[in-house]
Amino acid sequence: MITQTALLSLLEQTLQPSKIKDYCPNGIQVEGTMQIKKIVTGVTASQAMIDAAIAADADAILVHHGYFWKGENQTITSLKKKRIKSILMADINLIAYHLPLDIHPTLGNNAQLAKRFNIINVEGLEIGNPVSVAVKGELEQMQTLEQLTKTITDSLGRIPLVEGEASKEIRTVAWCSGGGQSFIEMAGEQGIDAFISGEVSEQTIHLAREYDIAFIAAGHHATERYGVKALGEFVAQELDVEVQFIDIDNPA
Ligand SMILES: [Zn+2]
Repeated sequence: MITQTALLSLLEQTLQPSKIKDYCPNGIQVEGTMQIKKIVTGVTASQAMIDAAIAADADAILVHHGYFWKGENQTITSLKKKRIKSILMADINLIAYHLPLDIHPTLGNNAQLAKRFNIINVEGLEIGNPVSVAVKGELEQMQTLEQLTKTITDSLGRIPLVEGEASKEIRTVAWCSGGGQSFIEMAGEQGIDAFISGEVSEQTIHLAREYDIAFIAAGHHATERYGVKALGEFVAQELDVEVQFIDIDNPA
């Protein structure tokens, strides 16, 4: 058993959310019990995630996608009322980290993908930005686009959308988990061989063709599972608390 304060201070110290501007509040979003025995982690604080947390008898939910996004309706009505009511009635803490969890150099979504896809020499894609959200690196060995696609498919357990010649040789790769597809332009400008993101937009394909950069959309959910999972494992190692990762599957 740990206190809510101990958990939040470890998370703040690790993820340092004040270093990056974000579209949502990072840290505690809905306050629950002060004593925490069990934490569940997951990608998004959907109703299914909340129900699973209640069923697991959790005292805290730690997610990548929480609530209160910039520009969203500020009222607590409809589905949002149902979600927040469930959390408050169960006295659960909802804790969310968005961009700080994408960019963390070891636990972050991008860093976890580098590990899974065997990418080395990782650095920021946004030149001169110390907190670059998109990153770039090199494959340990030259691979064709077909081989890289297979690595990604096997690693994420999901068939990605691919644009480019299967035989194209790939050495340099840039990527951004989730909805980071617009960074393809920056990768194209830098002459990188392949760009990976979670989502795809109609225009991403045209940009890929015109920059002659291979493009892989591997899924928003699939590319953002591993950061929060790694963060949960880190918390369990550092503090005397039980942590369970719950994957609510999402094909997007
Ligand atoms: Zn996301």
